[in-house]
Amino acid sequence: MDLKTFIRDIEDFPRQGVVFKDITPLLANAKAIRYTLDRLVEMVGVHGVDKVVGMESRGFFFGPLLAQRLNAGFVPVRKPNKLPSEKISQTYDLEYGTDTLDMHSDAILAGEKVLVHDDVLATGGTAKATCNLVERLGGEIVQCNFLIELDFLKGRDKLGETPVKALLNY
Ligand code: IMP
Repeated sequence: MDLKTFIRDIEDFPRQGVVFKDITPLLANAKAIRYTLDRLVEMVGVHGVDKVVGMESRGFFFGPLLAQRLNAGFVPVRKPNKLPSEKISQTYDLEYGTDTLDMHSDAILAGEKVLVHDDVLATGGTAKATCNLVERLGGEIVQCNFLIELDFLKGRDKLGETPVKALLNY
């Protein structure tokens, strides 16, 4: 199945000059969902995974499905002021300004094996901040796993030694 036929380019979204990869056509197709999930599971390979960590909000589509298939728990990483219990925060740089992501302090136990999942790897800032949150709680990242990697933004360079895999590259 050619998954790229289910990814739609939206020009000038969310702002002028950006071409946004829209995965909603993929989400709307049952066969494409199943195919994507099967490939994501294959991509993880033989690693034992205790927790899948997904980033708000598009990491929440496949994150819990992937966790279920890997027999792992799912942990949401959220934007500020969304998580109700005790949390840790990580601030990271954007092109203009900064952003912050939160995770519950008890979401990951020291030594747990963690798979980080999101829909798109762009500049890598979101994934790097998420890896920092996981590592601050003592988790061990086995892979950062994406549906789409925008190669020209070189996000994987920001993730250093962490294994990075993507289903589709642009
Ligand atoms: P980064 O931090 O620059 O790597 O951006 C990644 C975050 O922005 C992810 O959480 C993505 O969901 C979102 N993102 C960036 N570009 C796109 C896109 O083209 N389509 C969908 N999401 C995107």
